[in-house]
Amino acid sequence: MSMKIALVGIGKIARDQHVPMIEASPDWELAATVSREGHVEGVESYRDFAGMLAARPDIETVSLCLPPVPRFDYAAQAIRAGRNVMLEKPPGASLSEGFALEAMARDAGVSIYATWHSREAAMVAPAKAWLADKRLKSLKVIWKEDVRRWHPGQKWIWEAGGLGVFDPGINALSIVTEILPVPIHLTGGDLYFPENCDTPIAASVTFYHPGGAAVTADMDFRQQGEQIWTIEVETDAGSLVLSEGGAKLAIDGTEQTESAALVETEDGSNPLLGGEYARLYARMAALVRDHEIDMDLAPMAHVADAFLLGRRIVTDPFIE
Ligand code: NAP
Repeated sequence: MSMKIALVGIGKIARDQHVPMIEASPDWELAATVSREGHVEGVESYRDFAGMLAARPDIETVSLCLPPVPRFDYAAQAIRAGRNVMLEKPPGASLSEGFALEAMARDAGVSIYATWHSREAAMVAPAKAWLADKRLKSLKVIWKEDVRRWHPGQKWIWEAGGLGVFDPGINALSIVTEILPVPIHLTGGDLYFPENCDTPIAASVTFYHPGGAAVTADMDFRQQGEQIWTIEVETDAGSLVLSEGGAKLAIDGTEQTESAALVETEDGSNPLLGGEYARLYARMAALVRDHEIDMDLAPMAHVADAFLLGRRIVTDPFIE
């Protein structure tokens, strides 16, 4: 039987992914939206979140598609009202918000899920399986996109808490923290802040790896021409390149097809079926049914460390 869910913040990602994926999901029924302006055809809409929570006690789960800064208050309200919560990435505007939400959800006995959509890209699981028994020599993240093309008019990205280039960059870090068998931590770097913005437009950071491998990440929001979302890995037993944000995988220069690289999971499910958001909603359904919590904050810790350890370099103003 499907479960009722409310979607909050009907913006770009809600329209591009959440609405179609919920509508196609056997697990969920889109029962309401909460939005200051938007609505979804045929779905009951509310402007006020508290009003929706009071009017619809039958909706046990809310999915929050807001930018990171306003998200904590909505999540806290939902948990206090006894609802399960699904969080777009990043799970909060700070690490402390993530810790607080997890503790609140445990106390309230509800499920909470910090989603990382890029971890669900088709070739991430095969890359993780291939790397599991290799000795890492180097790993290089190259994440370069044109902010005007992908985030037109999104002022929140440039305001404190909006993460700047780490808004896409945290997707790369979510993949790295998933595919590496050992934890790494950030050691330093350069963050480039436009003189009129609170957040960086580019970043170049380095990491400590316990095996001594060279691990780096270069992120840039000023990319023209080819858009690059690539992770290059050298090991003692060959090389791996994940490209297109995890959708493509090459091992020793040979592109892997989904079927050739298919990884069987313990429960026999096929991790390559469906898109990133289809898998996120299937996982949320399982968490709700099993009364569980999935709140991995590792990618957010790296971003927080970049702001703690990175050198601040002021650069040209950003003009939309
Ligand atoms: P967006 O379109 O700029 O904003 C999403 C919606 O959030 C807005 O339409 C608005 O909804 C609501 N909102 C914005 N500011 C608010 C505020 N101060 N208080 C309350 N509600 C507010 O952003 P987005 O691109 O969808 O991104 C939202 C989240 O999804 C971000 O964390 C982002 O990292 C993540 N994400 C985005 C993408 C992408 O391709 N854009 C991909 C993956 C993940 P209403 O007008 O309905 O109130």
